[in-house]
Parts: sequence; C-alpha cells; structure tokens
Amino acid sequence: MIGDACNTKILRISNYLTFNGNKVTKAFVQPITRDGNQSEVNKRGICAGGASRRAFKLITTEIVLQPTSFCNLNCHYCYLPDKDRSHRMDPEITRRVCDHIRKAEEPTLVLWHCGEPLSTGVPHFRSLLEPFEDDLIRSKTRHLVQTNATLIDEAWCELFKQYNFQLGVSIDGPANLNTRRLTRAGHETHSKALMGIELLRRNGLKFSVIAVVGKESLKSAKELYLFVRDLGAEMLCINIEETEGINRSQVITADEARGFWKALYNSWEADMGISIREFSKLFNSMDRIVKTDYELDGSYRTIEMIPTISTRGDVVVLSPEFLGMEKQSQSFVVGNVLARSLEQILKSATDYWYVRDYATGIERCRKECQYFVFCGGGYASNKYFENGEVSSTETHFCRNKDKALVEAVLEVMEHE
Ligand code: SF4
Repeated sequence: MIGDACNTKILRISNYLTFNGNKVTKAFVQPITRDGNQSEVNKRGICAGGASRRAFKLITTEIVLQPTSFCNLNCHYCYLPDKDRSHRMDPEITRRVCDHIRKAEEPTLVLWHCGEPLSTGVPHFRSLLEPFEDDLIRSKTRHLVQTNATLIDEAWCELFKQYNFQLGVSIDGPANLNTRRLTRAGHETHSKALMGIELLRRNGLKFSVIAVVGKESLKSAKELYLFVRDLGAEMLCINIEETEGINRSQVITADEARGFWKALYNSWEADMGISIREFSKLFNSMDRIVKTDYELDGSYRTIEMIPTISTRGDVVVLSPEFLGMEKQSQSFVVGNVLARSLEQILKSATDYWYVRDYATGIERCRKECQYFVFCGGGYASNKYFENGEVSSTETHFCRNKDKALVEAVLEVMEHE
C-alpha cells in the first residue's frame, strides 16, 4: 500500500506492468522520491490559495452531443434530469458544431450521449449526421455512441457502419447483476440488450462495455469479467457507483472497492482476454511516472473542456452531468451555439466560475494528494455533487475508483 509522506511523489512502486497488446512485461522500478523542494512549476505558475487560469491550458478534443434528452429505460442510478422529456436536437445545432470542427486544429471525438441516443430514431439521427458528410469534417471526426443496446436493429447497424461509429454498450454483467437496468414499466432489459449486441456482432461491429458496479456486484468481479469477455466486447470499462446527495444506502467503502479491484485484476491477469480501461489507464500512468517528470513537464495543467451540447444548443463544460443542473441561482450553461459560435463560447468559458473553481481544485489536489499522478485531479461533477464545490478535492468516487484501484493493483503485484 502507498504510504503517507506528502513530499513524496510516489513512495513505492516495486514493480509494474506495461500492457502491450496481449504481452505483459514486468520491470523493476527504482523508488521515485521528492526532496520536498518547491518545483519549478510551483515557483513560476500558480499562487497559493488560488489557481491562475492562465496557468492552465484548456483544450477541446471531445464534444458530447445530446441528440435527445429522452431515455426509453429507467435505471435506478440514472442521473439525467430530463430523461422523461422527448426533446430532439435540431440539425442546425450539428451544423454549428461542424463549423467548429472544420477550424479545429486537433481531430475531434464526437460522443452521442446524455439520454438514449437511439430513441432519437434513425431518420432524425441521419439528419443530425448530414453536416458531418463534408470530406474535411469526415477526416477530422470520430463518432462514438453510448447506448443501452435495447433499440439496435439492422437500420442502426447500417448507420453505424456508414459513419464508422465506435460503440459503447451499457450493461452491468449477466442478468443477475443487471437488475437495476429496468424498463419504464419495471421489466428487465437484459434480454433485449443481448439481442442488440448479437446484431452488432452479426454485422461485424466492435463494441466496448460500460458496467456500473454497485453494492450487489462488488463480490462478482470474476463473473462480470468472464461475462463481458465472452460477450465479444473489445474493452470493459468500470464505473463504480457514485454517491448521490444524502443517500448513503449505496455508499461503497474503500475496502469493498479495493476487494473488487483485486478480484477483477486477478481474473483479468489469468487470461487477459480483453482490455480493461481502468488497468490500461493505470499502466499508462505508471509508464509516465517512470519515463517523465510529471510535475516538471506540466502536462497535468492541460484541462479537457469536453463541451456538452444539449438538444436546445446549450453548452456546459468539464462534465456532461452538469446539463440541466443549477448551483443556487447560477447555471452551468456557458452559452448557446445558436447564439454564438462554439469557439467564442469556449474562449469565454475560461472566465466562468466553475472552470476557475475546477482549476483551483486541481491545484489543491496536486498539492495535497499523492495519487494525483494517477488521477490528474478528478472529475468536476463528482466534486460538485459530493462536496458542493467544484474546487474541492477528495470524493467517494476518487477514493473508490482511483485510490482503491492503485492500492489494489500494487498490492497484488507486490505479492506475485
Ligand atoms: S481527485 Fe481524489 S485521487 Fe484525484 S488527486 Fe484529487 S483527492 Fe487525489
């Protein structure tokens, strides 16, 4: 387990793994320690007590689009405030987004999410995709859709192939672990999701799985892993269930989370049948720790803005979960693409209260938390929804997702 000294970057990584396709290489790594002196970045960059927003570079390589606010399911842990309303996005909004992508320096990942995108219907979804037909836009855009898979049919598969979509399917494991993903009438959704996945497979479409792990599935890591592997997914992504408001009935302890990660790691290590997003991310961080000086290269000071655009053109940044949320009288909306260009909106977003607060929170995390090199400062939405402040630091989410994961994997490695 990682120790407690604050002036130490990483106390001990006795060995680590580099994931390289299906090959795993073990390497011995010398302990990396800090002498406690203030780093160059610290001296030049951010003052104590607050982050200068000029010290952070804001980038946009990912845009989230909400083609519809509606979802055909009613999962117990859903956070979407407007999932009962069937607003659909106007194609004028995707035209505005394409104007932005045309001028962007970096390729853009467009994630269709925030509601069940497939409940938009194929004809309307095609009208939203029309502006992306332009050759230049096509060459600069990758599409990813996050779906519950219950509405997939041949027409959707055709569309996915035509636009080369990457697919993320939400399913929590075998039927006994998927009991909180229900229809609006309260019926199970597992069989329909499996039918949708079968159609993807028959059409040669690759997909990843995102599984939410709650109290009831914490002891079923192996079952979950084997299910997703045998489903034919390329990658398993784990979301440990997040704490909502004052509801403590579903609070998962760090011990429970560590137990889950250890069991998942052991199951995965036995055959490495598929990638697991969280392990790949962890190994990348380990590589970076070993090969670079994370503090001095300043890469932690790049903030991905992730503009999320609602069906009406409203833009929130940093976390899609901010759509439709308000902090007292303040809104998270930083503009509307029907009124101003996305480029202008993103430029002025640097003046927005929660972007400044987030930068402050990252700087606090960097100073206070030795897991920062793995985590990079956490998610704005978790900090806000759990602690009431975007500028805060530790959350249940980061304890269970980032810290418990690092501790569990290092512990397993140390005993090998
Ligand atoms: S979000 Fe949590 S794990 Fe990440 S750096 Fe901040 S306190 Fe540490």
